[in-house]
Amino acid sequence: MDAEVFRAWMTSAATAIEVNRDHLTQLDAAIGDADHGINLHRGFTAVLRALSSRNGAAAPMTPGRILAITGKTIIYEVGGASGPLYGTAFRQAGLSLGNAADVDLPALAAALNAALAGVQRLGAAREGDKTMVDALAAATRAFGQALEERAPADDALSYLAEAASAAAIATIPMQALKGRASYLGPRSVGHEDPGAASTALILGALRDAAQSNR
Ligand code: ADP
Ligand code: MG
Repeated sequence: MDAEVFRAWMTSAATAIEVNRDHLTQLDAAIGDADHGINLHRGFTAVLRALSSRNGAAAPMTPGRILAITGKTIIYEVGGASGPLYGTAFRQAGLSLGNAADVDLPALAAALNAALAGVQRLGAAREGDKTMVDALAAATRAFGQALEERAPADDALSYLAEAASAAAIATIPMQALKGRASYLGPRSVGHEDPGAASTALILGALRDAAQSNR
């Protein structure tokens, strides 16, 4: 997977967030402050702008650099809880990839692990706390397991995205223990976590970008 695949990932993620902007905001209206879709739409719009303004720049684009620019832009634009958390996830994933021009599946698995570790270091959420960590951790685990079992790349990417979606749905019966939704206590039960839902969209976009490149 070269820089073009990572660019395509961000384009596809931005589209998925735009299409689901109101849905994400409605999820956040139920257990938060109704801004998650708006926040991420603003963030990914800025990411696409930042990436296209660096087209033809002197330094060659690498997957790691694309993720670094994405993370920096999201931290700057998104705000709230999810801005620093997503920003850290992309930046840590970018650092993990270094300046490699091409990313293989084990390198992608390592980057996902680095993203998860960064989110947990910053937000201190564990699986089951009803946050984006639920989707990211499940997806990272499913992807790692697929690699261990030597699954074909397309299958591994599908498992990644499907695990994230299933984990987002699995947040519905949970009580939130981190973030704004935790202020609701037991009243947070019965609603899908908006950050887990957006993580599933972003990882679905990764699958789409990587599979269509193969
Ligand atoms: P805010 O809560 O500041 O309005 P957003 O609405 O953009 O920010 O994002 C809310 C999402 O952020 C939640 O649905 C949850 O997934 C995620 N989140 C909040 N706090 C944490 C945390 N400590 N660790 C991981 N994710 C968190
Ligand atoms: Mg919010």
